[in-house]
Amino acid sequence: MTRDYPLARLTTVRTGGPADFFARPESQEDLAALLAWAKKESVPVGVVGSGSNLLVADDGFRGLAMKLGGALTEVEREGTHLRCGGGARLPSAAAKAAGWGLSGLEFGINIPGTAGGAVRMNANAYGGQLAAVLEWVEVTTAAGTERRDPGSLGFVYRNSNLGPAEVVSRASFALTAGDPDEIRATLASMRGRRREAQPSGIKTFGSTFKNPADERAEGRSAGQLLEAAGCRGLGHGGARFSEKHANFVENAGQATTADVLALMAEGRRRVKERFGVELEPEVQILGDVEVPGAVG
Ligand SMILES: Cc1cc2nc3c(=O)[nH]c(=O)nc-3n(C[C@H](O)[C@H](O)[C@H](O)COP(=O)(O)OP(=O)(O)OC[C@H]3O[C@@H](n4cnc5c(N)ncnc54)[C@H](O)[C@@H]3O)c2cc1C
Repeated sequence: MTRDYPLARLTTVRTGGPADFFARPESQEDLAALLAWAKKESVPVGVVGSGSNLLVADDGFRGLAMKLGGALTEVEREGTHLRCGGGARLPSAAAKAAGWGLSGLEFGINIPGTAGGAVRMNANAYGGQLAAVLEWVEVTTAAGTERRDPGSLGFVYRNSNLGPAEVVSRASFALTAGDPDEIRATLASMRGRRREAQPSGIKTFGSTFKNPADERAEGRSAGQLLEAAGCRGLGHGGARFSEKHANFVENAGQATTADVLALMAEGRRRVKERFGVELEPEVQILGDVEVPGAVG
């Protein structure tokens, strides 16, 4: 275990402070032991996947942050089943599945997170259904590891019922046999569509707000509402709403988490004022800060 470990570089937006404690468990046993230690010492825990939907408080995290390593990042095939460590990167799992002629995980090519982070967040893209191919997950807690069915994970739009001390250490996907060349072609076209729609090569955590269910949104996405409310390109300190996709916040230089939060608050305020719609953050927070609420 390391002390005062900087977390910014473990996130895609590259902001935030250090964790009091940091560890890289390489097996389910390591992970359970760390979680048991934290429980005994009453230390909060937080797992960092690829940090691709994560905002760390500027003064850091007064707890144990963990990043899965070793066997917990492996991707293996058993027949048409793909078995992934919770820390395996979803785009590489999707590419491996394609190489093995396994179809069903193609949507993962555009989600720059881990298998565990995708389960926790119920990640999806272009209609690909994580829940439709997820066979089971192994969840490790201070008490050890248990297998859970997708039906017990409480999936709703961009969320599950997993708490911070319930870590997805393995996930199995039930895929179908297909032609590797065709699956690779699907991956290439998905990557192309993504390049057209979203900025690339920037420091961001993807979608900032969830698409609202509120009928006052009249079916518009969070990005469309932000754009109509004049947020495209709007900046605060080193953070700004992307010119290409208004629901993406980018770290344009030396952004702090406080800059990002202030910008999010301004986006929420404008959308609330203009449309009466309260945008809910999609991005997860590690540390002791909150996204300021919309005013009015
Ligand atoms: C450019 C870009 C494009 C994106 N496109 C999409 C998209 O199309 N669709 C989509 O759904 N998302 C998208 N995202 C958001 C993000 O990639 C997903 O939410 C992803 O599932 C997060 O996984 P992660 O491993 O990075 O999790 P992190 O961001 O590291 O963490 C997110 C949350 O999951 C928890 N967590 C992480 N690992 C585990 C684990 N093993 N067990 C339990 N909890 C865990 C964390 O504690 C935190 O609460 C995009 C992000 C970016 C930067």
